[in-house]
Amino acid sequence: MNIHEYQSKELFKEFGVAVPNGSVAKSPSEFEQAINSISGDTIVVKSQIHAGGRGKGTFADGFKGGVKLVPRAEAADTAAKMLGNTLITKQTGPSGRKVGAVYFTEANSIKHEYYLSILMDRASGKAAIVASTAGGMDIEKVAEETPEQIAKVLVDPDIGLQAFQIRKLAFFFGFGDKELQKQFKAVLGGLYKLFWTKDCSMVEVNPLILTEDGKIMALDAKVSFDDNALFRHPEIQALRDPAEEDPKEIEASRFGLNYIALDGNIACMVNGAGLAMSTMDIIKYFGGNPANFLDVGGGANEEAITQAFKILLQDEHVKGILVNIFGGIMRCDVIAAGVIAAVKNVGLKLPLVVRLEGTNVEIGRKMLADSGIKLTTADSLADAAEKIVKIVAEENK
Ligand code: GDP
Ligand code: MG
Repeated sequence: MNIHEYQSKELFKEFGVAVPNGSVAKSPSEFEQAINSISGDTIVVKSQIHAGGRGKGTFADGFKGGVKLVPRAEAADTAAKMLGNTLITKQTGPSGRKVGAVYFTEANSIKHEYYLSILMDRASGKAAIVASTAGGMDIEKVAEETPEQIAKVLVDPDIGLQAFQIRKLAFFFGFGDKELQKQFKAVLGGLYKLFWTKDCSMVEVNPLILTEDGKIMALDAKVSFDDNALFRHPEIQALRDPAEEDPKEIEASRFGLNYIALDGNIACMVNGAGLAMSTMDIIKYFGGNPANFLDVGGGANEEAITQAFKILLQDEHVKGILVNIFGGIMRCDVIAAGVIAAVKNVGLKLPLVVRLEGTNVEIGRKMLADSGIKLTTADSLADAAEKIVKIVAEENK
């Protein structure tokens, strides 16, 4: 789960990480009060969306810049142009994201911009701190073109962040001065504590800045959380912004279904994450494109299967459906009942290929055959994938 910059900065403050003063507004009536709570002649007006690259982004109506430094008198007008508008950045894709909130912050004069992030390094089983002297830039590009500008430190979760590791990164950034070291220790120590105690999958500050008057602070903030640990943090769950998430994914999670929307046109309903991955691979192998990942799990009942079907069909790009079930814990007759109920319920007109194998397969197959539903059966995973790809290609020539 991701949260907005203004929410991330609230967490930063809680953990002792310095951020510029700021105030958020979700409607034009809140602009004035928000702006008045910030000092300075220049105000930074920042569109709040769950994507980076806002500064260089463009709005759907041609207005340029999702992050703007403007004179105080122009802050409300600038915010009015952003709120409700759709911001397109390198990270949003061409359809962009609708801005539902604007964050006003005080402006700082920047002496230097740095990059600092903490993420889980699965290979070593440690937290990786990634630092770069090239802040405000696309970090993947820096890693590719000028890797010497990046330093990486691995933190053993059992031992925690060590003083020598903080010093190492402080010197890498050129913070030799005692006062800067003290500030950096508060920033990095706070970020690591946040990362660890809130079960984050990533904490990213780009840029971290050194101001002209010698202050180190987080100018931007991005925090994402491990969904599997969210049950431990109701205060983090409360920060969820449903407008930023695919409604199909939210609905799927309500029924315990692991669903991820993709951009192809063949919907897949599979049990087991590994089988779901293989199904997507093999659809690709035969020249098709999966519309989603969906693992209905082992314990899904008829209702969950019916819901899964409905969610798949909410995607208007879907041109065909592949049901691939290897019944172990999941029984094939339950799947068959769900498919029949769903098809009748929604009046399915799209081609459907079903491959059933495993527990109660004969019962399941008979139920499907007796139901009168128009479908194509398949004997194996490869057979099923090849059939659905072919049918969809034929029908959409
Ligand atoms: P992003 O484009 O989505 O990553 O948004 P950021 O919050 O990183 O802002 C984009 C850029 O705006 C930063 O990299 C800075 O160069 C600039 N910026 C933001 N706030 C300030 C500020 O207070 N002073 C100055 N001089 N520049 C700022
Ligand atoms: Mg940034």
